[in-house]
Amino acid sequence: MLSTMMEPALTITSVMNFAKKNYPNQEIISVTADNPLHRYTYKDAFQRVGKLANALVELGAKPGDVIGTMAWNDYRHLELYYGISCSGMVCHTINPRLFDEQIEYIVEHAEDKFLFVDPLFVTKIEALQDKMPNVLGFIVLTSEDNMPETTLRNVHCYETLIADKSDEFVWPELQESAASALCYTSGTTGNPKGVVYSHRSTVLHSYASSMPDAFAFSRNDVVMPIVPMFHVNGWGIVYSAPMAGAKLVMPGPKMADGKVLTTLINQEKITMSAGVPTVWLALLDYLEQSGESIDSLKRVTVGGAACPLPIFKTFYDKYGVEAEHAWGMTEMSPLGTYNKMSSQDRELPEEEFNQKLLRQGRPIYGVDLRIVNENGDELPWDGTSSGAVQVRGAFVTAGYHKQQADFTPGGWFETGDVAFMDEESRMQITDRTKDIIKSGGEWISSIELENLAMSHPAVAEAAVIGVAHEKWTERPLLVVVRKPDSGLTAQDILKFYQGKVATWWIPTEVAFVVELAHTATGKLDKKTIRQWYQDYQWQD
Ligand code: ADP
Repeated sequence: MLSTMMEPALTITSVMNFAKKNYPNQEIISVTADNPLHRYTYKDAFQRVGKLANALVELGAKPGDVIGTMAWNDYRHLELYYGISCSGMVCHTINPRLFDEQIEYIVEHAEDKFLFVDPLFVTKIEALQDKMPNVLGFIVLTSEDNMPETTLRNVHCYETLIADKSDEFVWPELQESAASALCYTSGTTGNPKGVVYSHRSTVLHSYASSMPDAFAFSRNDVVMPIVPMFHVNGWGIVYSAPMAGAKLVMPGPKMADGKVLTTLINQEKITMSAGVPTVWLALLDYLEQSGESIDSLKRVTVGGAACPLPIFKTFYDKYGVEAEHAWGMTEMSPLGTYNKMSSQDRELPEEEFNQKLLRQGRPIYGVDLRIVNENGDELPWDGTSSGAVQVRGAFVTAGYHKQQADFTPGGWFETGDVAFMDEESRMQITDRTKDIIKSGGEWISSIELENLAMSHPAVAEAAVIGVAHEKWTERPLLVVVRKPDSGLTAQDILKFYQGKVATWWIPTEVAFVVELAHTATGKLDKKTIRQWYQDYQWQD
């Protein structure tokens, strides 16, 4: 029997129309290269989105075309997200931190027709434009007054381009399965791989990620996404916040600037924010030095990499902010799990509570997750059985752009992460499949050892890698960047591990370095660090 229900297509256009109609006066505040504080409303934003759509047509862009953006989190980038996708084109967000060859590769691979560029990236793109022969033109995201001198070919100024266009646009009736956006993973090996999101996957991810045990967005929230919009659609917040009618604050190029972030929090009464651990370190450092407070802030989401305990603790104990751990990846739109603590959890003995706090959390609705052993057998959720994490769901990719074959044997996507699930369905990531250390036939979690080292007050950053060992196959080597002026010794840090992990987990030796290697997205580049020590000789 068929249902009697209507079946409107789940499209980003519907999110735009909803926010425009129901929350026209809700504000969007942005920091941009040309304005320290731009302020307008959803109504203004979506009127300009109409102008942009007309401008795209006039430029010659057609439905199905891929349009590139290289921009920070601000209102013009938001307009591009909606203007491009709702016109039936594909919004390809490019990470400016990728290496030049990777940027050239993805612009060509994606077949970008036009590239919208923040003024701060104009010089970078000028140097690369000859390697992007298929890009028909470049649009600088600024006004005529602030337009930089540039050698970019067929260049336009964004504000001039849209100024005389009508804000009325007949939005096409899109299929919900149509491609809406494209994002490449940085990939520590090989070329970056493209994930193509659909209107439907985006809407479903926005619903699922807004639920109370995840972002929990409400119209009373003032949300500041610090996670860049060129990284997995800024975790989808530019869609889910308008869906909830929340006020948006976008920090533009100032995402690592503790002072600007603090001012925005206090001035705009931000209640919720989201970012990677490094951003929070910058903010907490600034607060410590300045003695300022962040009273309006209630919760922050931290994800993208394992978050060290001191970040959770400082946020809660000093500022009353709940820092909530989340896990996901480009291939998952990105949210997979979210860790909400309850008031009962807070009554647990501290050690037990801390363990739970560090977990990556429970799967959100829409993500079917399992842990499997080397034979592909599903493992119980018992708090100890650790294995490879596989997922499937309506916002998990079924392939990479232009290379779909044999991607998900059995219908499951291999995340490349290793984890266990506890009895409360909370996931604990213990490693990346490639980073796990195998000592005497047993697994050692490099992430857990790194987290512990990072919780030592004299450690600025730490990495743990497996190095070949005659007797044990591999043993963990701890590579540490000390805090300035610290006299930390190998003995000190090794002693610090005692009683916190099994003795055979304790790193065999310690190497001190001035700096560790990072990927273009700022994560530890373990591949490079392993190469540094490939000929390492153990002392005994
Ligand atoms: P990229 O692959 O481009 O670096 P992604 O955001 O797609 O960027 O990276 C996803 C990976 O990041 C995950 O598979 C996982 O290894 C790691 N990750 C994300 N969030 C967490 C977290 N909270 N704890 C530990 N690892 C995480």
